[in-house]
Amino acid sequence: MNTTKHFSSCVAEYDPNALPVSAAQEIVRQWALPRGRVEVERVRLFDALDRVLVKDVVSPINVPSHDNSAMDGYAFDGAALLDASGGDESLRLTVAGTALAGQPFEGRPLATQCVRIMTGALIPPGCDTVVPQELVQRAGDAVTFAASGIERGANRRLAGEDLAQGQPALREGRIVRASDLGLLASLGIGEVAVQRRLRVAFFSTGDELRSVGEPLAPGCIYDSNRYTLFAMLRRMNVEPVDLGIVRDDRASLERALRQATQDADVVISSGGVSVGDADFTRDLMNALGDVAFWKIAMRPGRPLAFGRLWSGRRPGEGESALFFGLPGNPVAVMATFYFIVREALLAMSGATPHSLPLISATSSQPINKRAGRTEFQRGIARRDDSGHWHVATTGPQGSGVLSSMSEANCFIVLKHDAGNIDAGDSVDILPFDCLI
Ligand code: AMP
Ligand code: MG
Repeated sequence: MNTTKHFSSCVAEYDPNALPVSAAQEIVRQWALPRGRVEVERVRLFDALDRVLVKDVVSPINVPSHDNSAMDGYAFDGAALLDASGGDESLRLTVAGTALAGQPFEGRPLATQCVRIMTGALIPPGCDTVVPQELVQRAGDAVTFAASGIERGANRRLAGEDLAQGQPALREGRIVRASDLGLLASLGIGEVAVQRRLRVAFFSTGDELRSVGEPLAPGCIYDSNRYTLFAMLRRMNVEPVDLGIVRDDRASLERALRQATQDADVVISSGGVSVGDADFTRDLMNALGDVAFWKIAMRPGRPLAFGRLWSGRRPGEGESALFFGLPGNPVAVMATFYFIVREALLAMSGATPHSLPLISATSSQPINKRAGRTEFQRGIARRDDSGHWHVATTGPQGSGVLSSMSEANCFIVLKHDAGNIDAGDSVDILPFDCLI
């Protein structure tokens, strides 16, 4: 299989020096298909959080299993309301007994009777309405209340109203959330079939990089991208495979890429993909697979390599993995991960991809922006008393200024076609709490 032609032809209709973000996302979407072979794991509920369901979970029972009360009050046959003609009249019923959650009332009350009932208790036979306790006057074994204050059928939860037996309760491709664990438990399901976690190998490239714990020689910097990548991958609940720092030489890079392709479904590197980088990077990546080098019209994150690598002697042989060669600058790594890589990881995990929720905010300052590229600036957003969002940048927006990401609470997403922003203009923001 030779996909090189395809990768390049995908971008042929665009300016190769400025591939729009939306086009890059679309190409990645086409190539990041779910793994061909579904590998299923059965996990217990406590291990199912953030995992991807392999198939629909069909409800084996009705939830709730029987009609029950939504309030603490008195259950009775609502036909009595119709008899209390005019609605102004009050209704007087005698209390025949009590229904507690887990302890149903035994027997069937008469039309002139009611049953003291607590939330969650079974509605007794012949009853269909619950009057809340705060609406009644109780005197001895009788209650009185205004018939106009209540409608027939009120405060009754119907059997199966939450989940009906035989209906899908959760869909295939669902990423299991907190509520889903509770929902599965409410169905009596203790185990679910989930996809094997996607394995994602990652490494940093650069002769200038040192690991935490090593001394810093002049001109060297600590490798931060591996930590950022590790964290973003962990948050997506994929299995991160850390391959460390790789030196800028052909043999080291080839070893890392082969190993990564063998071990993982996806390979992510950072650094070494800009124009100025050694030609061996491109040669090597093309020798191992089909890799396109893009200049994306985004800031930060312009250079990016994307393609498929093979672990065998030539493309098409051995194991294959999707490859993302991210830029080296620390903020660019984060922006390209969230806006180019993230959705691919979801799709390959078998999850139903969902787009990120952008919110409109008013810019509290002018922002310099060049038309013809999407910019992801770091912002501090706040919501005013009327619920409107306002945003300002964190200051200098260099793609190496990682502290701007820690200081910010959102990305300001400035659209491809937009030019300079004036104070008071509306911009899109993506709150980090939606991401991390
Ligand atoms: P490159 O794309 O390899 O030219 O790197 C661009 C910039 O990002 C350079 O200033 C690098 O020193 C820096 N950089 C590359 N990799 C890392 C890393 N793993 N951690 C921190 N900075 C990096
Ligand atoms: Mg480099």
